[in-house]
Amino acid sequence: MTSFSLRQTYSQLPDHFYASAVLTPVAAPRLIKLNGPLAQSLGLDVDWLSGPDGLAMLSGSCMPQGVQPVALAYAGHQFGHFVPQLGDGRALLLGDVTDASGQVREIQLKGSGRTAYSRRGDGRAALGPVLREYVVSEAMAALGVPTTRALAAVITGEQVMRETPLPGAVIARVASSHIRVGTFQFFAARQDLTGLRALADFAIARHYPDVAQAPAPYLALLERVIAAQADLVAQWMLKGFIHGVMNTDNMAISGETIDYGPCAFMEQYDPTTVFSFIDERGRYAYGNQPSMALWDLTRLAEALLPLLAEDEEQAVPVAQDALGAFEGRFQATYLAGFRAKLGLKTEQADDTDLFRSLLETMQETQADFTQTFRALSSEGAISGENVPELLAAFGPWLARWRQRLAGEEEGTVSARVAAMQKVNPAFIPRNHLVEAMIRAAVDEGDFSKFEALLAVCTRPYDDQPGKEAYARPAQPSERVRHTFC
Ligand code: AMP
Ligand code: MG
Ligand code: MG
Repeated sequence: MTSFSLRQTYSQLPDHFYASAVLTPVAAPRLIKLNGPLAQSLGLDVDWLSGPDGLAMLSGSCMPQGVQPVALAYAGHQFGHFVPQLGDGRALLLGDVTDASGQVREIQLKGSGRTAYSRRGDGRAALGPVLREYVVSEAMAALGVPTTRALAAVITGEQVMRETPLPGAVIARVASSHIRVGTFQFFAARQDLTGLRALADFAIARHYPDVAQAPAPYLALLERVIAAQADLVAQWMLKGFIHGVMNTDNMAISGETIDYGPCAFMEQYDPTTVFSFIDERGRYAYGNQPSMALWDLTRLAEALLPLLAEDEEQAVPVAQDALGAFEGRFQATYLAGFRAKLGLKTEQADDTDLFRSLLETMQETQADFTQTFRALSSEGAISGENVPELLAAFGPWLARWRQRLAGEEEGTVSARVAAMQKVNPAFIPRNHLVEAMIRAAVDEGDFSKFEALLAVCTRPYDDQPGKEAYARPAQPSERVRHTFC
């Protein structure tokens, strides 16, 4: 019996958009986690998914009838250097469904074996990064940040060779598409105008169907992607999230966070913070993320030039104009988000100065980003009568903030606290907890820390009595300096 079917929409694009998969069955697949509520929202049969046929599919070993996985072709700038052919070297697109809200969702496996685009790679993923992606992407979704979702994690029963042998795993993830900036670059680099146009039409139909009616649909597509990415990176900044590998092949046209690798959340506020072991020069440091996003979007605009006007001379100023909107859009979303974090409803001219001064004090005192905003979201901080100890060094700034609050429309302190707590999380996946969770799973086969961390981080805005240990930053001895993927 098969109660599983997917559409194969992407495969209707021309053949050179993808490569058909040759499956490599794994030794002893075992389900670590199935995201039941997500599966249900996708209309998938949870019992089938967690049974033997589901496990065979989720591990990339054997597909049910009608599911014909493909690896997608794409190019990309990696740390500033263009690679004309990357592609899914260890990922397979299984197909797509329409979810409960009417949105198209694609299901992709990562770590399922070699593909036509694997180059020297083994096509596999290690358990640690799979668990990190599961927890961090689900935490991001719960934080309200656009992101791919984790549908399932499977252990393969095989080892993958990294610096040491590690248990192998496969993650099934869900995205509204897997089209990246690098997908456009793939066709542009080949001067394949037909392919470029087909991709742009596909992206418009999938993500921005209303722009199909615009006078210049491809320019409108570019503008919408720029806006979506400006909003996304503003959300990252407001949550202290560091993506770690903002290469153009890791930037989704949908505006969803994609490709969780050596990502991490900042603890002590410092814009130069970098965790990724491969990012030696800090290209993708926390504070560089907006400018790096614009850099990537400039590559998208370049790729789209042939679709923007009859000749390049006409197209360049059009593209520059569109790119010029990034900064204003980013600032508007970021400042609106910052106001909400401080419980402010009105705009004032010196708001940016108020924000800058808070961040400066945080940096000087090495304050934890998440904890500081959560502490501000309290009756004590707002009233000044019982200020949380954590804010002891913020006296002059608090006085200024309270004055600013006093100038706003009357509202109860508790209503203000409630509103602030909805945007300032108590819980993020802290790096030392993520690492401890990975160590327990990899070294001891113990997934209880994974379950516990996932449970806490998917309710980030709730006070969770008894879970205080998850809210505190790493002690100096626990601090994680580098993340690996
Ligand atoms: P990433 O930096 O993870 O976004 O990956 C960049 C490129 O390397 C993509 O084309 C991946 O598919 C490919 N890649 C990464 N890891 C592997 C692997 N273990 N085997 C094959 N390809 C890989
Ligand atoms: Mg075809
Ligand atoms: Mg990638």
